[in-house]
Amino acid sequence: MTPRPILRALLVLALAGAAAAQPPASGRRVHRLLIHNATVIDGNGTPASGPKDILIENNVIADVIALDAVSLSRAGGRAAAPQADAVIDATGKYVLPGLINAHAHLQEERGGRPQPIEYELDIWLACGITTVRDVGSDTRRALELRRQSAEGEIAAPRIFVYPMFGRPRDPQAARAHVRELKQMGADGIKILGIDRDTMAAMEGEAHLLSLPVAHHAGVEETNAWDDIKFGTTSIEHWYGIPDAAIPGGVQNFPSGYNYNNETDRFRYAGHLWREADPERLTKVLEGMVHAGVAWVPTLDIYEASRDLQRAQTQPWFADYLHPTLEEYFRPNPANHGSYFIGWTSTDEAFWKENYRIWMAALRQFDRLGGLIGVGDDAGFIYQMYGFGLIRNLELHQEAGFHPLKIIQQITGNNAQILGQENRLGRVRAGWLADLIVVSGNPLENLKVLYPTGVDEIRDGKVVHTGGVEWTIKDGIPYHAPTLMARVKEIVAQARKSGPVPRPTR
Ligand SMILES: [Zn+2]
Repeated sequence: MTPRPILRALLVLALAGAAAAQPPASGRRVHRLLIHNATVIDGNGTPASGPKDILIENNVIADVIALDAVSLSRAGGRAAAPQADAVIDATGKYVLPGLINAHAHLQEERGGRPQPIEYELDIWLACGITTVRDVGSDTRRALELRRQSAEGEIAAPRIFVYPMFGRPRDPQAARAHVRELKQMGADGIKILGIDRDTMAAMEGEAHLLSLPVAHHAGVEETNAWDDIKFGTTSIEHWYGIPDAAIPGGVQNFPSGYNYNNETDRFRYAGHLWREADPERLTKVLEGMVHAGVAWVPTLDIYEASRDLQRAQTQPWFADYLHPTLEEYFRPNPANHGSYFIGWTSTDEAFWKENYRIWMAALRQFDRLGGLIGVGDDAGFIYQMYGFGLIRNLELHQEAGFHPLKIIQQITGNNAQILGQENRLGRVRAGWLADLIVVSGNPLENLKVLYPTGVDEIRDGKVVHTGGVEWTIKDGIPYHAPTLMARVKEIVAQARKSGPVPRPTR
């Protein structure tokens, strides 16, 4: 069906008007920004659709206008393209909600050596990340960065601050500490290695104050049954889930095992999923679904355990690995997560099986109706900021999820875990203007999201393409290649000036 002549004329006018406007300057918000002619993948799992115009007014998505012939004819003479102060031509490109990193750490040092915050923030934005949930860093600094980001003083994703809770002495102290963190302005709380009585108390108080709780469920006194009982918002990583399904209640550790020896800990973690009883595991997963406990598996952060060589030779290390982080990644018993001295093929084989069972559990959790989010926990174990998050998407695909579902997990689902589903994670009028413009189709190849892009063969020639072109956060457009050029420069300078010594203690 062809649009009626009047509509066609309006469309031509619209295209002409759009073509006349200039692209935005990186890092500067204009009053009205138009993304023209995009294929849109929304954050709610629905199919890609387009072409569409997306009009942003200040920091809000003002309108999403379908431009296909059927919609135009149905609209019966809709007015010409919206006037805009700047236009991003998204012809042949995909627009998604800004990615959300549900498990991040703001890091200005590694192993005591400084690392500029811009390094991490720029890579995040260049990877299309418009929101991070900080689950443990320097809380006061994180709150300050949150403010600076919200006020547009720094180029950074939105920051939600979930301070690390520590280990209170008793339930009364736990409740008091929750109130203290609320007073400080925390958006939520991250717990780790907590005792059952204090966990019960802190979660009760957190619910009263509407603070979500993220639980790094380690191999500890509590497991997923406690999260189910006390109403944890999200389980981070995974340990507490299979641990809750072990028939004897205790993993079959060798007698010499020491939890504080990280090689022991990570080696035998590779045996944990196989010890979980499938029927019990189903009950645990069902319990999580009924209690509304979400799961942020951070699949990338254990990948070195199943394939050390892959982890140590990621191609983006060449230009973008900061020497501080590089030094921190070197196997060294004094750094958390650097446990790879003496890592064997046997360890990797156990971990590969571990991943297979883990991924099957994720699929089962999803089928039961569970909410799955995505976070990268980067800055540890060879995972670089941003790149690690994109790697998760590939691992979710390996787990068996459809790319539409994966994009939903990293946008809409993460927004829900943050309690922000009415403002973030969608390409929808009225939602905050957090969007990315991607060169290429992530449904075909999730690797197009890496800032380093992909090579394709077109007409017999190799073409380098891919990458996020624009990351729009709170209506502010950031040109991703410009950000990555800055990151490259930061790294080159740091390498030239040599290693920064650890401060003497
Ligand atoms: Zn973490």
